[in-house]
Amino acid sequence: MSNIERAEVFVASPGRSFVTLRLTTSDGVLGLGDATLNGRELAVASYLRDHVAPLLIGRDSARIEDIWQYLYRGAYWRRGPVTMTAIAAVDTALWDIKGKVAGLPVYQLLGGRSRDGVLVYSHASGTDVPSLLDDVARFRELGYHAIRAQAAVPGIRGTYGVRKGAVYEPAATSLPEEQPWSTEAYLDHAPTYLEAIRERFGFGFHLLHDVHHRLTPIEAARFGKRVEDCRLFWMEDPTPAENQESFQLIRQHTTTPIAVGEVLTSIWDVQHLITEQLIDYVRTSVVHAGGITHLRRIFDLAALYQVRTGSHGATDLSPVSLAAAVHLDLTVPNFGIQEYMPHAPETMEVFRSGVRFEDGMLHPPEEPGLGVEYDEKAAERFPYEPRYLPVARRLDGSVHDW
Ligand SMILES: [Mg+2]
Repeated sequence: MSNIERAEVFVASPGRSFVTLRLTTSDGVLGLGDATLNGRELAVASYLRDHVAPLLIGRDSARIEDIWQYLYRGAYWRRGPVTMTAIAAVDTALWDIKGKVAGLPVYQLLGGRSRDGVLVYSHASGTDVPSLLDDVARFRELGYHAIRAQAAVPGIRGTYGVRKGAVYEPAATSLPEEQPWSTEAYLDHAPTYLEAIRERFGFGFHLLHDVHHRLTPIEAARFGKRVEDCRLFWMEDPTPAENQESFQLIRQHTTTPIAVGEVLTSIWDVQHLITEQLIDYVRTSVVHAGGITHLRRIFDLAALYQVRTGSHGATDLSPVSLAAAVHLDLTVPNFGIQEYMPHAPETMEVFRSGVRFEDGMLHPPEEPGLGVEYDEKAAERFPYEPRYLPVARRLDGSVHDW
């Protein structure tokens, strides 16, 4: 029996902030888990250090499901992003350990390949339509078969999804930046650039768009209907998902596929959306939805209703999460697509990952476990710096969904 002997939590900001859990077994096997909750990092770090680490010491590292149930049911207080991210970190680290003990990459433990590679989409953006078109051309040249497109809405400073430098990083200030928002201006503008992309580049690749929770259900219905001829792969988060019945209204009006779930953290949070067939893609991720064990359960439920997977994979997930996602994506029968934004070079100095991009797809490392190493020494050069996501306000000054 190989017991958990140490549980260490690292918080560092190599390019952006990451919380990383490292478990060590009595046999000296290391397992890594991502515990990053963008803008609330220290809450999960404390949850792990103060409340979870003491419970893990001495437990059999092979009992992944039992430890998941123990941490979930044993906390009494269930669900929520802090709890589910902490459990996810432990679960991911235990799969990493199991792979190393077995001498197999994690995807082999999950049933082996269902496909040759993991189709990914990345983010094209522009401060205006011509620069967006140039960016789409660049991603096409890089070999992407699926591209998300976002352009600045004229007159709306800091529109969601528009890159300033080489890497899109919305969590950029030590206190939340407040950004203006106009639904009217967005609804007038966004369909025109999606149409311009199809006009210039045709339909030989998947085109995606993220509404980022900004519309009411009827506005989202109007948007989806308006862009139907663009044949989007999906419109993402058209309206906030707390009121899940509202997706029925959107469905009544449009055949544009819907993707939801990056802020949802458990199978119970997506149950209604899936079983009522209100969405086409579920965006829950390894790190925020309870790890590989729980995400696989969500994906299996989704498969019964022909809902496909489309996990969140922005740079606020560490390379540990990305690797775990690629191992899982490779195996699930109802895989749809995986979001992928390459990490900053500083991030890759700290996380050495064997995940590789080729011809629009990601491929997992073939070494045992997840195939990612954490360089503690390199991380010391990037001390934690708090950074917050922006807050949106309508033009009359009232708070909107960011
Ligand atoms: Mg999104």
